[in-house]
Amino acid sequence: MMRLSVIIPCYNEEENIFPFIEQIKKIEKQLKEHLLFEYIFVDDGSTDKTLERIQEIRQNNNNIFYLSFSRNFGKESAMLAGMKASKGDYITIMDADLQDPPELLLDMFDKIKEGYDIVGTRRINRKGEPLIRSLFSKMFYKIMNLISEIKMIDGLRDFSLMTRQVVDSILSLEEVNRFSKGIFSWVGYRSTYLSYENRDRVYGKSSWNFWSLLRYSFEGFINFSEALLNIAVWSGTLSFILSIIGIIFIVVRKLTIGGSVNGWASLVTIILLIGGIQLLCIGILGKYISKIFLETKKRPLYFIKEKALNNDR
Ligand code: UDP
Ligand code: MG
Repeated sequence: MMRLSVIIPCYNEEENIFPFIEQIKKIEKQLKEHLLFEYIFVDDGSTDKTLERIQEIRQNNNNIFYLSFSRNFGKESAMLAGMKASKGDYITIMDADLQDPPELLLDMFDKIKEGYDIVGTRRINRKGEPLIRSLFSKMFYKIMNLISEIKMIDGLRDFSLMTRQVVDSILSLEEVNRFSKGIFSWVGYRSTYLSYENRDRVYGKSSWNFWSLLRYSFEGFINFSEALLNIAVWSGTLSFILSIIGIIFIVVRKLTIGGSVNGWASLVTIILLIGGIQLLCIGILGKYISKIFLETKKRPLYFIKEKALNNDR
């Protein structure tokens, strides 16, 4: 029988562990003729009782496993660790807060049977989300699709079902700066998306705020596009050409109608403009260099403090 690994990144989700396992168990029952489930909870350095809850549910279930990080390393690292530890022929990544409807797994699995390799999910609405946040998210996807070589879908979640082949491809990417939404689409394969209505967390609150999301989208731009570097090149070229024209103009004027002391105000503005463009470009370069710096250090993306994994295979 085929095996399915369910990877659940958890950061301070103590109240959600019980409701989550209760819900997903129902789906496990419905799929039990086709799939053998294994659960890999990745405790991402939670400071509450998340790990204890996981250990409690382990006592009544022999297919629950876990990893626990030495500190909070972020969801990207948690997903990666879960994927590495997974043994299933298929894997799925689900949030612990039940915002990813478990029943969707049934439809996702049907799609896999149709021959797709990755089945992703997207939210069709953003109900219950602050307006400004939706606005910025929309903008992010618009810009990203404009400037990057890969296509990203608005409202895309990490909740997805994929085959072992896809997982192995994802794991073979050794980059330290991981931006999963980009990586999942970059690896290729036959993919499709299912849509669902957004729903609220069962308990607790989202660990993302406006600024962390903004930072996250910058990561996306920098990791998956060279367009920002092109801004530097183009704005540099443009201001160079403009200044050449300016110089010719000044020389010609000096030789014909004579120079003037007027215009110092415009001069200052121009200096500011050029200075601004230069700083902007240096900033963009710096961003990329810092990425290179982090990549060359090859730091591990997480440390596992404690684990209970499926070792019998
Ligand atoms: N999460 C994590 N590490 C973090 C932040 C979040 O493992 O540093 C987990 C969290 O426990 C949840 C999932 O990632 O299961 C999604 O997080 P959240 O609900 O905060 O994000 P949102 O649903 O608002 O995008
Ligand atoms: Mg959530």
